[in-house]
Amino acid sequence: MTQVPVVREPGATHAVVIGASMAGMLAARVLAGHVDRVTVIERDRLPEGAEQRKGVPQGRQIHVLLARGSAVLDRLFPGFSRDLVAAGAVPFRLPGDALILSKAGWVDRRTPGWTMTSASRPLIEETLRRRLLQLPGIAVLDGSEVTELRASDDGRAVRGVSVRRADGGDDSRSIDADLVVDASGRGSRTPHWLADLGYPEPERTQVDSHIAYATRLYRIPDGFAADWRAAMLMPRPPGNPRTGDLMPIEGGRWIVTLMGAARQHPPTDEAGFTAFMRELSDPIIADTVAHAEPVSDIRGHRGTANRLAHYERMPRWPERLVVLGDAVCAFNPVYGQGMTTAAIAAETLDDCLWAQRRRRPAGDLEGMARRFQRLLARRNRDAWMLSTGEDLRYPTTTGTTAGRILRAQHRYFDRVERAAVTDPAVTEVYARVFGMLERPTALFRPRIVAAAIRAGRAPTRPAAPTVGVPAPRTSTEQQQEVRT
Ligand SMILES: Cc1cc2nc3c(=O)[nH]c(=O)nc-3n(C[C@H](O)[C@H](O)[C@H](O)COP(=O)(O)OP(=O)(O)OC[C@H]3O[C@@H](n4cnc5c(N)ncnc54)[C@H](O)[C@@H]3O)c2cc1C
Repeated sequence: MTQVPVVREPGATHAVVIGASMAGMLAARVLAGHVDRVTVIERDRLPEGAEQRKGVPQGRQIHVLLARGSAVLDRLFPGFSRDLVAAGAVPFRLPGDALILSKAGWVDRRTPGWTMTSASRPLIEETLRRRLLQLPGIAVLDGSEVTELRASDDGRAVRGVSVRRADGGDDSRSIDADLVVDASGRGSRTPHWLADLGYPEPERTQVDSHIAYATRLYRIPDGFAADWRAAMLMPRPPGNPRTGDLMPIEGGRWIVTLMGAARQHPPTDEAGFTAFMRELSDPIIADTVAHAEPVSDIRGHRGTANRLAHYERMPRWPERLVVLGDAVCAFNPVYGQGMTTAAIAAETLDDCLWAQRRRRPAGDLEGMARRFQRLLARRNRDAWMLSTGEDLRYPTTTGTTAGRILRAQHRYFDRVERAAVTDPAVTEVYARVFGMLERPTALFRPRIVAAAIRAGRAPTRPAAPTVGVPAPRTSTEQQQEVRT
């Protein structure tokens, strides 16, 4: 990707975004509606196509774009899902087209649920980047690293950033901005940069289920036929902390990701990966890929703890600085919430900037940044409670422990899962909550509570609904079958 020069006309308003990943690009899209120019500064050299890059090491792992995230992306970039499909992404319905094995059994597939547009993380990012760069007023400065925040003389407001070439060049320079957005991910330096400006350290919470990932890509065999498109085998905590997902992505491939919590990590060697896959709660994924050609190495990923920086609680907060995405709140990714939460954060920024325009004269951002961090903290709360709450089913999870209320909630959610195995109306709500289309409180509606009470007494369905699903076959096997 070529660097776009930063041009700043006198009097024009300018925002700087640190990080050109999901949160940064979505924030830039929103900012384009409020300032004259947006400069996105990215440490990596951005690729022209859908390629992995160093700054997003998680990009090799499965990336589920939940229904809510998809809806926000389509609103911010009309036709985004269509673009993604045109680039090769595979749409399918959840749970309609997916085999989902929960603790209680196979989730009822009679309800179609929502459409997932399944693609690799690099393709999602590249499609978004292409759309962003079509907007007027957006400049991307890649291969450049932000090294500090620059503040006004009295230290009350952030006024820009210092930037140097990421390849180590000695060319530090400053870029002025009316608003700085930190979207630099889990490794965000904002706590240190704030300390340099005399601000206190934010309180931080970390809840870690010690989960690790391993992923491999396979070519989907010619002639593969089944009445499902994806398989998701959920863990059964605390005894079996292993999860496995198989999903179709662009290029006629399956992405197979194995996840192990409670330090039961999936190996990244061939034999270990295969053995782990066999030890999932059902052999469907192992049996399916047994006939498929692997087309990648096995790549592992660690560093998946839920991490929350409580910027909303800071006694002092500088004007004109906002922090969003994983830089504020990063989740155990197994629940697929990260990109959707980044999208919600961009919407939140938009809401705050519009509210500010109604409240104050043009260009006056007094109090906006602080209001944003508080509102974002409220909007992140459900996802945080869900992610950490589920992680606390493992006694080995560190950071905090499950109290009486959470344990009662676990028991209730178990009953809802049982109901979702047999009752399509419950499955629908369960799928919508999982897709973040509804708040978890939807699971406490009278209809769901009644179903959960009934399901609590019913035996769970035996885990064998794969019956009738044709076994995957290679084209050679199919030809042999035709000949005999
Ligand atoms: C293993 C794994 C699997 C995941 N699976 C899912 C999933 O299924 N669904 C989902 O929604 N989410 C998933 N996520 C989460 C998702 O990847 C993130 O939530 C999402 O990318 C949003 O992150 P971000 O944009 O805030 O930060 P990141 O994606 O981490 O990007 C930060 C960017 O900032 C740049 N940067 C950092 N420091 C600087 C600097 N000083 N100057 C300039 N640039 C800088 C980096 O190079 C990078 O481009 C997963 C995460 C992991 C770890």
